[in-house]
Amino acid sequence: MARRFSARVGALAVLVFHAAQGCAHAPTPAAAPPVVVLEGARVFDGEATTGPATVVLEGERIRAVGPRGSLQVPAGAQVVDYSGKTLIPGLILAHAHVGIVSGVETGRRFYTRENITRQLARYLDYGVMTVNSLGLNPPLFYTLRRELKGHTTGADLLGAGPGLGAPMGLPPARGMNLEDDQVVRPETPEAAREAVRDMAGQGVDMVKLWVDSMKGGVPKLRPEVYRAAIDEAHRHGLRAAAHIHDLEDAKAVVEAGIDVLAHGVRDQPVDDAFIQAMKTRGVWYIPTVNLDEANYLYAEHPAWMDEPFFRAAVDPALQRRFDDPQWQRETLASEGAAKARKAVAINLQNLRALHQAGVKIGFGTDSGALPQRIPGFAEHRELELMTQAGLTPARALRAATRDSAELLGLKSQGAIAPGMVADLVVLDSDPVQDIRNTRDIHAVWRRGVQVRPLRAP
Ligand SMILES: [Zn+2]
Repeated sequence: MARRFSARVGALAVLVFHAAQGCAHAPTPAAAPPVVVLEGARVFDGEATTGPATVVLEGERIRAVGPRGSLQVPAGAQVVDYSGKTLIPGLILAHAHVGIVSGVETGRRFYTRENITRQLARYLDYGVMTVNSLGLNPPLFYTLRRELKGHTTGADLLGAGPGLGAPMGLPPARGMNLEDDQVVRPETPEAAREAVRDMAGQGVDMVKLWVDSMKGGVPKLRPEVYRAAIDEAHRHGLRAAAHIHDLEDAKAVVEAGIDVLAHGVRDQPVDDAFIQAMKTRGVWYIPTVNLDEANYLYAEHPAWMDEPFFRAAVDPALQRRFDDPQWQRETLASEGAAKARKAVAINLQNLRALHQAGVKIGFGTDSGALPQRIPGFAEHRELELMTQAGLTPARALRAATRDSAELLGLKSQGAIAPGMVADLVVLDSDPVQDIRNTRDIHAVWRRGVQVRPLRAP
């Protein structure tokens, strides 16, 4: 295991570290950023965990990574002993929502600075460092996205602004108590282009489209409209992501040039033509398996629902619902639960096929869109579900770090390597042995600063 370090990272790391030390002797040493040395942990490198290692942080960046004892530790550096721990990069969540839910309610009135900063702090508690709010964002999003850049009190906020849905179609305005400034509903290709231009001008990280008629129950964004939106996004250097549910819609948006499928295909098994199209066009696939599972899982009350890791993520009003025996019975007996079980089974089957074929897998949960999609917990559950679809724990973790950083165009996040931002989660156990070990969070480091002891060290 240590061989991997010396062969691939070690030599470079030592050079980079010595260069950094040179800076410390520059004329203004008082202004030099603090150096922190994390000693003795195993490190997830995107493929495996190796170590024990030494990780040197300087200011908000990682300066060097090497086998324990291979790096010179500068005098005066803060040294933290992480023997027996495992370091993983902060999780990068490519599909979630902020400012929609409070307790068991949803609505526009929850899109406030206070609610959103609290939600972003919750994500950080759980090691999620970047949240891509994929649509339903009113104009306050643009302000918060700018203001929160580089902060250390919560996850980074990226997003798609409002996103584009069909007039009278998805996303369901009435069901979620949305208002008109949370989604654009263009009637024509030109209106779609204008909306995308406006979003690009105000600052979005992606363009979101909803292409789903809920089995013909509501109008669907027309092909000429979403084609125009995708084209306009590309003209502005932005990727376009689509909400889809059915294979037919997934195929249509892939053919139209979509960059990201923001959900798994859940109506039927994917076929070879679709798999080939995804591969040829390099389309990202974000399965969001937990989304459907959340419609019945909590009514089953698995034993881990009584553990602090879960309970700390759950709002008291939601907890009361979960504890209500009548709600449990009705939920488990509902038609929705039966449908959701089917959707989960197909989603897992399709994820397995697409992953095995080499399609690019991103990480998303749709947490924050509805009360039962629980920010923080949903992400760790999703990692576990991805392994149920045949991804190894390391591969699932890579999807949630390095690969989702690539999906979002983040060049300095998602890996523990020299020059990267020092966003780290310190675990008590090794997640490559068992993916559920991502829940053993010992500490969280954000931009080179320890920001979380979730519990006493
Ligand atoms: Zn969503």
